[in-house]
Amino acid sequence: MSLSHGRPYLAIPGPSVMPEEVLRAMHRSAPNIYEGQIVDMTATIVADLRRVARTKGDVAIYISNGHGLWEASLANVLAPGDAVLVPVTGRFGHGWAAQAGRMGAEVRLVDFGKQQAIDPARVAEALKADTEHRIKAVLAVHVDTSTGIRNDVAALRRALDETGHPALLMMDAIASLGCDRIEMDAWGVDVLLAASQKGLMTPPGIGFLWVSEKAQAVRDGIEVTSPYWDWAPRLHPEGYYQHFCGTAPTHHLYGLRAALDMILTEGLENVWNRHEVLARAIWAAAQRWGADGPLTVNAPEGVRSHAVTALRLGGDMADRLRTWTDTCGGVTLGIGLGMAEPGDVDFGGFFRIGHMGHVNAHMVLGALSVIEAGMTACEIPHGDGALAEAARICAGA
Ligand SMILES: *Cc1c(COP(=O)(O)O)cnc(C)c1O
Repeated sequence: MSLSHGRPYLAIPGPSVMPEEVLRAMHRSAPNIYEGQIVDMTATIVADLRRVARTKGDVAIYISNGHGLWEASLANVLAPGDAVLVPVTGRFGHGWAAQAGRMGAEVRLVDFGKQQAIDPARVAEALKADTEHRIKAVLAVHVDTSTGIRNDVAALRRALDETGHPALLMMDAIASLGCDRIEMDAWGVDVLLAASQKGLMTPPGIGFLWVSEKAQAVRDGIEVTSPYWDWAPRLHPEGYYQHFCGTAPTHHLYGLRAALDMILTEGLENVWNRHEVLARAIWAAAQRWGADGPLTVNAPEGVRSHAVTALRLGGDMADRLRTWTDTCGGVTLGIGLGMAEPGDVDFGGFFRIGHMGHVNAHMVLGALSVIEAGMTACEIPHGDGALAEAARICAGA
């Protein structure tokens, strides 16, 4: 029997749940893009994007998903013969590195596997070995959405500074902005990437690069940049049209305005705190389930993201669980991504819970309850007391 016919919960790590406020803000006819409300509103969006990234730096807006942002970040700093250094903690680090390779950069990987955060000392060693300063940028993914690992980017910056190497520090915060604490300026990030469809609760389709003065100076030293990805006119548009290198993403801007209002009304610190408590409820439940069954949280304690959790069940158990929660419980869980080892035939052993953006206690406790029902229905062994433990954390006990 299916119990899925009510309000569904898309609990995948992006696109995330869109608030009614965002959807309503977008439901309107097209505005004039040359003057008036949309032009004035864009200025307020740029100011508030600085606030959510904790930076005084400039921000460029692209009609793009995250993959486009990766390319934009690279297109502005790479010249022929340059190298990039990529500390990898999951599939998304590999993805960014692969793009750099296809754009002609020499890619130097420091692979930390799937269950370990970046060790800044090892990254610093790789930089020190680069005596010719061919490495133009270090590409660090803050939260790798495939593994659920959260990296300490402030510590990475300190380690880079100690080497005296001039490489830029770029940080992919596509999964984490608006969920996990991010302090672009305090952490010394040169280029920060985030997209609309995760913590920012807006449909996929626009993305952002926040750019330090140091990074802008690197861009100014490049002879050829891509006309579309060039951040210079977007950071300092002479006319509104230059903001977007063409027609503005009008409806995304209305949606984003509403989302930013919600975030700033709640307060950024409160938003981060809410994500932390909800994440802790998920981990606590997982620990109880795993006490008498195969379930484990992929990321070790201390380096877990507050936005996404990757869980291992093994075999095809995660696939069977996801099918049950989706078709019988109204909760769509995320697939495992990039977790198979060489030689593995299937990916059916991992699943992910997206708990980013517009999520609250009833959604997370509900999802956890449906997962427990699913494990029972699918005859997946699990320990008891998980839901009580999650409820206790939400109660602040
Ligand atoms: C989602 C995500 C991406 C890719 O974004 P798309 O919009 O799917 O292209 C890149 N990096 C991280 C960390 C992500 O979570």
